[in-house]
Amino acid sequence: MTQTKTILAVLAHPDDESFGMGGTLALYAKQGHHVYLACATRGEVGSADAEFMQGFKSVAEMRESELRCAAGHLGLKEVFFLGYRDSGMPGSPENEHPDAQVAHPVEEVAKKVVQVIRSVKPDVVITFDPIGGYRHPDHIHIHNATVLAFNQAGEADFAPELGKAFSPAFLYFHTFPRGFLRLVVRTIRLLGGDPSKWGRNKDIDLASLAEVDFPTHVRIDYSTMREKKMLASHCHASQGGREMGKGIQGLLFRLLGQHDDFMQAHPQPAQNARIRNSLFE
Ligand SMILES: [Zn+2]
Repeated sequence: MTQTKTILAVLAHPDDESFGMGGTLALYAKQGHHVYLACATRGEVGSADAEFMQGFKSVAEMRESELRCAAGHLGLKEVFFLGYRDSGMPGSPENEHPDAQVAHPVEEVAKKVVQVIRSVKPDVVITFDPIGGYRHPDHIHIHNATVLAFNQAGEADFAPELGKAFSPAFLYFHTFPRGFLRLVVRTIRLLGGDPSKWGRNKDIDLASLAEVDFPTHVRIDYSTMREKKMLASHCHASQGGREMGKGIQGLLFRLLGQHDDFMQAHPQPAQNARIRNSLFE
């Protein structure tokens, strides 16, 4: 095996890891690398049917346990919670909650990320793309905080109380494969649905997301890890994780869901460089 490396994914809610880049995280963990996750909230706003709440005092407690289940399947070494509350989507009352992540300045959230970076010393940091995947305010907020923290962590005179300065080598943004997204949009339209009102709460505008283009610098084939990604997703049963493999979504996942795309934010990628197949190159 090549030298052991460390990856830190910085995300917003329990389930972001499994529904998102879980295949890639599982692949690197399987290869013996150390894979950590920092999660800004405990997904307090995720709706959950009563059947999932049995034995739990709160949604946060239940979703933390779902995340720990998923982390086991993905082979994550440790999960850090940054201690904020799920901010919900814009316009919801949850968005105004004083503990909501978005109610806290990016600089403050970034300090918590700096602390995790200096503690686990990752070679690679991964977070959401600049529009947070699907424009969830928590995703965008933690994206901004992570970009800031990535730069601050290596500054010796920045917040020395948070640990010794450390500069990770790479920063990546996970992006939805655009071709896949456009196909989903067309399929939903063909079936008579409205791709601008998608998801459990009909607040995701897939049609507009498909129009935003991000470059792909690294593409990770995780086809050997599909089973692990599926098992991890099943852990998030309260958020529909068991339906991941079913219906049209399941079909598309089986046909196309075998790779994750990443945009490289640091170091600045060369113009028109070929797409690589490693986050460490
Ligand atoms: Zn999320």
